Amino acid sequence: MSKEVNRTSTNECEPKLKKMKFHLDIGDYMRGSNVDDQMKYDYLTNHWVPSKDFVFPKHVRTVSGKTFHLSFQRAWLEKFKWLAYSPDKDGAFCKSCLIFAPDVGGGSKLLKLVNEPMQNLKSALEDLSKHASRTYHITAQLHAENFCNTHTTGNVVEQMNSARAQQADGNRRALASIINVVKFCGRQNIALRGHIDHGVLSNPTNFETEMNEGNFRALLRFRISSGDQDLLNYVQNAPLNALYTSPQIQNKIITLCGEMIRETLVKKINKSKYFAMLADETSDIGRIEQFSICARYVQNEHGICTLREGFLGFVEAVDLSGQALAELLMSTLTSWGLELRNIVGQGYDGVANMSGCFRGVQAVDQAYPKACYTHCCSHSLNLVLSHACGGEGLKRTVRSIRDVVNFFSNSPKRTGILKNAIIALLPQSRHTRSITFCETRWVERHESITVFCELYSAVVYSLGQIEECRDRDAADKADEFKYRIMNADFICHLRILDSILGITYRLSVILQSKDLDIIGCCQMLNDVKAVLQHMLDNAQKKFSTKSA
Ligand SMILES: [Zn+2]
Repeated sequence: MSKEVNRTSTNECEPKLKKMKFHLDIGDYMRGSNVDDQMKYDYLTNHWVPSKDFVFPKHVRTVSGKTFHLSFQRAWLEKFKWLAYSPDKDGAFCKSCLIFAPDVGGGSKLLKLVNEPMQNLKSALEDLSKHASRTYHITAQLHAENFCNTHTTGNVVEQMNSARAQQADGNRRALASIINVVKFCGRQNIALRGHIDHGVLSNPTNFETEMNEGNFRALLRFRISSGDQDLLNYVQNAPLNALYTSPQIQNKIITLCGEMIRETLVKKINKSKYFAMLADETSDIGRIEQFSICARYVQNEHGICTLREGFLGFVEAVDLSGQALAELLMSTLTSWGLELRNIVGQGYDGVANMSGCFRGVQAVDQAYPKACYTHCCSHSLNLVLSHACGGEGLKRTVRSIRDVVNFFSNSPKRTGILKNAIIALLPQSRHTRSITFCETRWVERHESITVFCELYSAVVYSLGQIEECRDRDAADKADEFKYRIMNADFICHLRILDSILGITYRLSVILQSKDLDIIGCCQMLNDVKAVLQHMLDNAQKKFSTKSA
């Protein structure tokens, strides 16, 4: 029996359907190896699905003279989750097989539901059930599920990574702002800390806080109030254990900046090859003995040579013997990356153990014979002056000046009296504030002595006033000081000191200039010697002229 099958699709909405383009219509999926994972994922999970009011086209089917009207049943989509309807092809596909099944399954080329839409609706249920039991379908189904799971997971990881990257980027920018604040304080030589220098920065957009939180936190606030959005976000959302504003972190940033500056400096020194080491001993506020280490080198930039002196860092000294100090210096310089075979000079100022008995110097000399030792010229000059002023008359004069200066500077009231006397007697004078006196350096005393000479009359007048006040102790002292500074011996020594120290002070300043070379230095010393010798030779004559 032959069946005449006349299958035509008659549906009034058909012409409309043909013209429309449906997003991710399963019928548009092109099987092949060049489909990327995202496309597969989109077709599997987000393909076009008929809406509730969608009218499936009717299929007119004539079998043995009888006419049947058949259309796709929405219930099939519910029953078979792998089934997808294509409005364009007007048929159904198994999306899992369409995407993952091989071309050939069970020995023959896969057509229905895979390479072709299922359009025979008469035995649709039977066909779909059969398809569901095929081995290639079960494999494709597993493949599809697995794919969706891993693709989704991958997506989440990707999203998380992207969010994390964004957050890391914002944090990095906020940290850069914090570091810039520390750098700013360093460049301007201002302290970071204040009364409150830890904890959360509350109300961060307000930089006019009631309490002084110190420069660091004030500058953070200033940046935020000026529109640093990254810093604001960070300060508001950062966990309490990662604020990056604590004093410890500030110190860490300062240390890192210092290391970076030193690295750059060491590179420059090694590039210029030869260098001299300069070291001085100091004790810090915590009474820790430490060396400040500098290097002197010639920087050659485009053929222009410039003498440079760079501060390399502090190093704590525990064993203060010459040998130990020398070893500490050498090992420190090596650890900083300096090539010690290129050291051609060493200079020490107050490091008595290095220079005084030469043990430290000798240790360096033995290891690096080219490291020529030079005692700091300015320090030598100070020692010479100290030695030259060893005479009792000069010592007495210096002691008197120091005592008088301290007498005034220790009391605001007495400083006020002196100030008024200066304004009244010496209106032209610039020195209306109290005089200071350097306890250690002779060359530095020149300023005090010059000022003392200039203000001499005002000092004497003020002492006279204090003599008449009610405070008997102060009056007695003023009386004593007046006696000490108002005699020929004192005045004579004061004038000598002023004229000699005037010359040596200028020499000291020049000796400390970093671009002075050894030839210039010798020339300068000879000149000063000649001037002093001339003064000495003509001293008698000069005194007689004055007295005449
Ligand atoms: Zn299938």
